[in-house]
Amino acid sequence: MRPERLIDCHTHLNNYHESTRRPTTDHVQDLFAKMDEVGVDHAVVISSYKVDMDRPSVEHLIELLAADPRTTLVEGLRWRGEARTDLFGLEERIRDGLVKGIKLYPGYDHYPINDASLETVFRIAAKHDVPVMIHTGDTYAKTAKVRMAHPLLVDDVAVDYPDVKLVMCHLGNPWFQDAAEVLYKNDNVFADISGLTLGEFTYDFERYVAMRLKDMITYMGDPGKQLMYGSDWPLVHMKPYVRLLHELDFTDEQLENIAWRTAARLFRVPVDRIGSRGGEGVVP
Ligand SMILES: [Zn+2]
Repeated sequence: MRPERLIDCHTHLNNYHESTRRPTTDHVQDLFAKMDEVGVDHAVVISSYKVDMDRPSVEHLIELLAADPRTTLVEGLRWRGEARTDLFGLEERIRDGLVKGIKLYPGYDHYPINDASLETVFRIAAKHDVPVMIHTGDTYAKTAKVRMAHPLLVDDVAVDYPDVKLVMCHLGNPWFQDAAEVLYKNDNVFADISGLTLGEFTYDFERYVAMRLKDMITYMGDPGKQLMYGSDWPLVHMKPYVRLLHELDFTDEQLENIAWRTAARLFRVPVDRIGSRGGEGVVP
């Protein structure tokens, strides 16, 4: 069965290789082309923890994406580099509805998830009721400190800020069991299934990921309450990821929640802007 709608709650518009460096407008076009190809109706685009020639600023992304209702923007927090996020500016963008969530990059940006300096960030999220996405688990960059991104630390934040909705990105890969416990214990924690491979899955690794996800779900109970579909495109190709979603034996009700309902609620995507899919999509 295919879900009625599909939201990819985790995409980026960065360059990841110098050899394939392109202007951001090209990435935007590519995003919409891929969405059409695999049947994704709406994408959450997440800005980076850095701004440089490979990582566009949130202001630039706001300009580029303003004309198209098929995306929702989440602002990446820049917290340890030379140019830190100005929280007044962040709060204004949230207040004005230009940004619908905040993304933390612990580990990449050399702070742990439960760092006390983030208090104001969580207070802004609570005040405006926007979710805070948190990178958890393995890091793409060798310069990141992976211990700081351990999913168990999300529990500290979930307890200290019960009014904030937290999204553990990548299910804490490879600490799936720890992530499952944090989800089971905390109703204000959600998770996306993005970024569990790079590019295409190998056969063995796809089996491995599917098994770990099934183990997590057995432990957690109802996956329809907290899990969301996300890919981590362009680091991950969209097509095999949509296929993975269909391999996880969710009930129809769970699948609808994971594919779009939970994300639509969290990021406040108006349902009439998601559209029921008419395209071919990926047939499971
Ligand atoms: Zn990502």
